[in-house]
Amino acid sequence: MQSPAHKPRFAMDPFGSVHDLTFADLERMLEADGVRPIHAGSVWRVLHRGLATDLGPEHDFLPPVRRWLDSQLSQGMRLDCPTVSEALVSTDGATRKLLLRLEDGQEVETVVMGYPGRYTACVSTQAGCAMGCVFCATGQMGFVRNLRPGEIVAQVLAAQRMLRDSGDAGLRNLVLMGMGEPLANYDAVIQALRIVSDSRGANISPSRISISTVGVVPGILRLAEENQPYPLAVSLHATNDEERTALVPVNQRWPLASLLDACRIYSAKTSRKIFFGWTLMEKINDTPEHARQLVALLKGLDAHVNLIHLNPTDQFRAGASEASAAALFKSILQEAGFACTTRQRRGIDVAAGCGQLRSRAGAVGKRVE
Ligand code: SAH
Ligand code: SF4
Repeated sequence: MQSPAHKPRFAMDPFGSVHDLTFADLERMLEADGVRPIHAGSVWRVLHRGLATDLGPEHDFLPPVRRWLDSQLSQGMRLDCPTVSEALVSTDGATRKLLLRLEDGQEVETVVMGYPGRYTACVSTQAGCAMGCVFCATGQMGFVRNLRPGEIVAQVLAAQRMLRDSGDAGLRNLVLMGMGEPLANYDAVIQALRIVSDSRGANISPSRISISTVGVVPGILRLAEENQPYPLAVSLHATNDEERTALVPVNQRWPLASLLDACRIYSAKTSRKIFFGWTLMEKINDTPEHARQLVALLKGLDAHVNLIHLNPTDQFRAGASEASAAALFKSILQEAGFACTTRQRRGIDVAAGCGQLRSRAGAVGKRVE
């Protein structure tokens, strides 16, 4: 808890942490306290390059910075450094999953995937998710709360700490495909991405940070309006409202026509390609007819389709597609001129695959109606 003397001064949240701050926020805070803003660099380096979990006396700061930090810490300034309550490694060693315990005891999962020469972190943006997709473990557990920017940033830093400690190279890519719906927590997500893409810190290039959405139309329009530089992935899974609503209940709120309109507006405003996620489910959405309908739906869009293997979850019994059905589906899209790739299956043995993330603490929350 904050001490009563602590004045709420953080940009995003009165009960925020120093990890909620962008470099510019930190400069402003220092300046407001009469400390030269140039000192922001040393604090930032210790936090975002040094991956420090505290700002105590063992860190060497110039006297004005030390005095400022001590005063802030005594007034309740906090850091986001979640405890790693579990770290699991897949049998092939290429996927690692961290279960991170936040200050209020909530747990979120972060996955680190190693590909030759590069690492990708998959981070969570909410504890649980309100969207209720029937095939997703996070959707099955319900919504708990939004994460603050610092809690999203802290996952990236925890992933980097883990890579550093095992002597591996740094992170190159980031995907917001962990627990939660990023565009339902828009402000915190954009603030977090500003922080981790800062070249003075974690330095993950914006072009290597993907935002995946179930189709939150106002969020897609806002990304377009603000011309945010992050690649966009839209999880589609069906081409008509009846089939999509059965899988993705929130389709009732933002039906396919409005979703595709938003995608066209996004394309026109940003000139960016959109990635469409399609989790292949046997006989539900993997027939040649489905592929042809998808081709018709995406006509005229600069689209890349990402096929995803359905991973098992407790409350959804459909099977994953046969390899032959997946190959035929892909060839129909490619023959129609769309780029189409199949996402590698990763970390299934440690339940780190797409849609398998959920808190051990179990289900609690509510869903979007
Ligand atoms: N909420 C966002 C991002 C998190 S989900 C979204 O829905 O896009 C990340 C991806 O995992 C989405 O493409 C989602 O459709 C997919 N996914 C969810 N459950 C899955 C499962 N059981 N098997 C395979 N992919 C799944
Ligand atoms: Fe939420 Fe995405 Fe899972 Fe749907 S697939 S419940 S939007 S995390």
